[in-house]
Amino acid sequence: MILADYSFDELRDLIVTLGEKPYRAGQIFGNLANGKAISDMSDISKALKEKLLEKFSDNALEIIQELTSKDGTKKFLYKLNDGNVIEGVLMCYTYGNTLCVSTQVGCRMGCAFCASTLQGLIRNLTPGEILSQILVVNRRLGGDINNRKITNVVLMGSGEPLDNYQNVIKFLSLMSDKRGINISPRNLSLSTCGLVPEMLKLAGEGYPVNLTLSLHNPFDTKRQQIMPIAKAYTVQQTVDALDYYFKQTGRRYYIEYSLILGENDTNECALELKKLFAGKPCHINLIRLNSVKERNLIGTSDKGAKAFMEKLEKLGLSVTLRRKMGNDIEGACGQLRRKFIQEGGDSN
Ligand code: SAH
Repeated sequence: MILADYSFDELRDLIVTLGEKPYRAGQIFGNLANGKAISDMSDISKALKEKLLEKFSDNALEIIQELTSKDGTKKFLYKLNDGNVIEGVLMCYTYGNTLCVSTQVGCRMGCAFCASTLQGLIRNLTPGEILSQILVVNRRLGGDINNRKITNVVLMGSGEPLDNYQNVIKFLSLMSDKRGINISPRNLSLSTCGLVPEMLKLAGEGYPVNLTLSLHNPFDTKRQQIMPIAKAYTVQQTVDALDYYFKQTGRRYYIEYSLILGENDTNECALELKKLFAGKPCHINLIRLNSVKERNLIGTSDKGAKAFMEKLEKLGLSVTLRRKMGNDIEGACGQLRRKFIQEGGDSN
């Protein structure tokens, strides 16, 4: 375990076993939430820091690269203690800053268009590693727990959050702890390719996150061609799980739909989306696919995307066409990490 994996109560127990007063746990928890490494904790005695450093690494991860796009989007590469590298994207909007966070190193879901999955799953991230991405970027932007620079979080970096279920649930509890960074689950979007049993389980956890399904095609056979998970669960089963989530939590849900030229931007698809979602507490986010040369999948044109959006609107669906952000800095999932590795970036 790393220190950032500890809940407040676990930290208090640990501190007591180290022969220290329990209140020290609060100080350490606050320091961690402020994105500080153990060696940076100025209000902790040297002796206690040494005791902690005997047991734990100094921090969970480090920012090793920061790129800023023309549109202000920032991309971060983080190095973990074992040398693995993950990435994150910071999107700045008028209402606040949204950080896109990774939950695994790599991914085993195998979606045809996604760069995160090319090398398979390397390992799960621990709760503290997921949380620390937020904490170090918040600190980098000059924020702390009293003045947060990150208002929203999306679990849309590399990895499938529901394939790392227990660690993601603990991360949610750490992130929403009032004594820590204190981000409400309502300000977090959890995006899944559609692990139905975990979607159902999530509905009862007491963390009312915005649940987002990466659908990308409303037809089973077509969806199976680009998303292997579609062989395990039908579109209907997946949509039923979303409806159940709404029933249990009262939270509307979201559909991610990356437009692929000639594949999922057809009239037929629009009509099927209407069948699935008209009148439902559901919002559809369209984005143009970041083309993947290796797979010969091409994003729908700007014009085509706009036309598809208008079609959905006319059919009575709630829909947004998201602008592509950070395209010039390899903005999509796993792309920067892949580039870093392909260019011979030494992650160790
Ligand atoms: N595993 C989760 C979360 C990570 S992916 C999931 O599947 O939802 C975040 C979103 O980016 C998903 O909707 C994913 O399908 C999409 N995505 C991945 N590669 C993309 C690409 N090349 N272009 C557009 N969207 C992409």
